[in-house]
Amino acid sequence: MKKIGILGSTGSIGTQTLEIVRNNPDLQVTALAAGSNVSLMEKQIREFRPLLCVMWQESTANELRERTKDLPVKIESGMEGLLAMAQLPEMEVLVTAIVGMIGIRPTIAAIEAGKTIALANKETLVTAGHLIMPLAKKKKVPILPVDSEHSAIFQSMNGERHERVSRILLTASGGPFRGKKRQELSDITVEDALKHPNWSMGRKITVDSATLVNKGLEVIEAKWLFGVEPKDIQVIVHPQSIIHSMVEYEDGAVMAQLGLPDMKLPIQYALFYPDRRPMEGERVDFFKLASITFEKPDTDTFRGLALAYEAAGIGGSMPTVLNAANERAVSLFLDRKIRFLEIYDLIQGAMENHKPVQEPSVEQILEAEAQAYDYIDSRRA
Ligand code: NAD
Ligand code: MG
Repeated sequence: MKKIGILGSTGSIGTQTLEIVRNNPDLQVTALAAGSNVSLMEKQIREFRPLLCVMWQESTANELRERTKDLPVKIESGMEGLLAMAQLPEMEVLVTAIVGMIGIRPTIAAIEAGKTIALANKETLVTAGHLIMPLAKKKKVPILPVDSEHSAIFQSMNGERHERVSRILLTASGGPFRGKKRQELSDITVEDALKHPNWSMGRKITVDSATLVNKGLEVIEAKWLFGVEPKDIQVIVHPQSIIHSMVEYEDGAVMAQLGLPDMKLPIQYALFYPDRRPMEGERVDFFKLASITFEKPDTDTFRGLALAYEAAGIGGSMPTVLNAANERAVSLFLDRKIRFLEIYDLIQGAMENHKPVQEPSVEQILEAEAQAYDYIDSRRA
């Protein structure tokens, strides 16, 4: 029996993780945490019977306590609840499926407690990779990637010597606006941005895919996961999303992982690594695939990718500012308060306004986050 906890169980990755639990009776859910969806959380508790459950707001936690008072589940709230969940003695693996850098402290707490991390929450590595990776090494805790590209890279490195890697080839679908120029993006609506061609995901990452900020965050995520410099990570636009990423070695060989776009595969791979469990579903039919194509990313139009390389190059607290400014800007865009292209302006402005600190502590990371928020609020005041 493998005992897992899911941070962000009501979201896109969280609910797909629970589907995998349904299909694999040797997985047991010991803890769940979510933001505000009480009804879905109640259903999940009734089906999976966790020991501990966390809701972000105390008022929502209270409502859940009321709804589940016939059950022995313990219900907590807030950051304290998330930290307690991360260290729950009965849990072995924590799936970090929460969205945003709020995942930093629970992820660090889980590593401290020796939990294996199945990592979907890329914002945490982008902002605190310099703290998380060495801590995981010290605690001998595996960090198993759930992000499809990083899972593909991880799979393409199986049995290989890491020092023989020459480049990482990170594929990108290009998002819903691939091929468009800047002037065509000025009137993009929230609905347009939420129509991803290949993947169905949470709202924030779907917008990030449309701006290509997601790919930029993934470059930084790959840097930390695989110890490769950003200059050795090449982004390749591949609109069919069949090749999930590739690794080039010093002899010129390129290893890749292919499949239909379905997050359940990388989630399941992380949960059972190094095993590869069976999974139902459609298979790639190479005769039906008319073609697979590749393009260079257009970083003049999709400035998010260029800004992420810049932040990665500066390092220290700069990736935090990129990420925090993006989190705030995307939420303003989703609330229809700013236009699509203003997301880039706000990120760039916040980065220009920031004096980076090298090797920031968690407190300094949270300060840089707060500064980026203040900058955006002051520009909009
Ligand atoms: P989502 O918005 O669908 O789900 C987010 C989850 O986090 C929800 O359960 C929500 O309730 C929970 N949450 C948010 N704030 C919280 C808080 N303060 N306290 C407790 N829980 C909170 O997001 P998603 O698409 O599942 O993405 C989750 C993470 O995985 C993101 O970092 C994203 O970049 C990454 N990721 C997602 C996909 C995908 O296919 N969805 C693919 C690769 C990586
Ligand atoms: Mg991805």
